[in-house]
Amino acid sequence: MEHLSPHMLLDLWERGATWPATQRALLLLSTAFPEEPPDALARCTIGQRNRLLLALREKLFGPHFAGVATCPQCGERLEVNFEASDIRAPTPGDPAEPRALEVAGYTVQFRLPNSTDLAAIQGCSDVATAQQVLLERCLLSVQHEGHTLSATALPAEVVSALATAMEEADPLANIQLALNCPACGHQWSAVLDLLAYIWSELDAWARRVLREVHCLATAYGWSEHDILNMRPWRRQLYMGMIGQ
Ligand SMILES: [Zn+2]
Repeated sequence: MEHLSPHMLLDLWERGATWPATQRALLLLSTAFPEEPPDALARCTIGQRNRLLLALREKLFGPHFAGVATCPQCGERLEVNFEASDIRAPTPGDPAEPRALEVAGYTVQFRLPNSTDLAAIQGCSDVATAQQVLLERCLLSVQHEGHTLSATALPAEVVSALATAMEEADPLANIQLALNCPACGHQWSAVLDLLAYIWSELDAWARRVLREVHCLATAYGWSEHDILNMRPWRRQLYMGMIGQ
């Protein structure tokens, strides 16, 4: 993985600020893994993409995650703490290989969704349309009683089984946190949006560093380039000396 300097991180943050989520993820990964061709990164399954994002997050901000959640039962706010190793699940088999599913007399061949699929459904007006587009893109073939069918002809039971099979085949695509409310004992699972989490950390980091640049440049006349080249603890010392 490439070492990302403060200059590179700020550039990344500035470029990605107005980009849609999927393109942001690919921007992060193509900067961190320049040896990987961009189209290969885009064709990684979402679980593989999240595994790379997790590795990048550990390198940038460490392995510990902390957040807050609200109990849907009683409204209690609870702190959520976990490690990267708690959510890093293995992906069974080769994620790029086509998969097969047999359910209710239907034989379905499919591949796992990747970033090009997520980019394709970003503009969909509703969830049902997005699901249909995703299905049509990821279904390779459907056979039923000797006939070849289209994705639109699949009964709900088969679509549901297919969604489950996709989740099981690429567990890191949909990261669920098991939560337990200490106040009322309610147990539930919450989805972790890893990309949104990482981007909010990068955003907070960038705003803090730019504030340091502003304060030190104003106080000492140093350039942004020189201030960014300082180690963080040295910037912090100077910030203390100017009362910030
Ligand atoms: Zn509760």
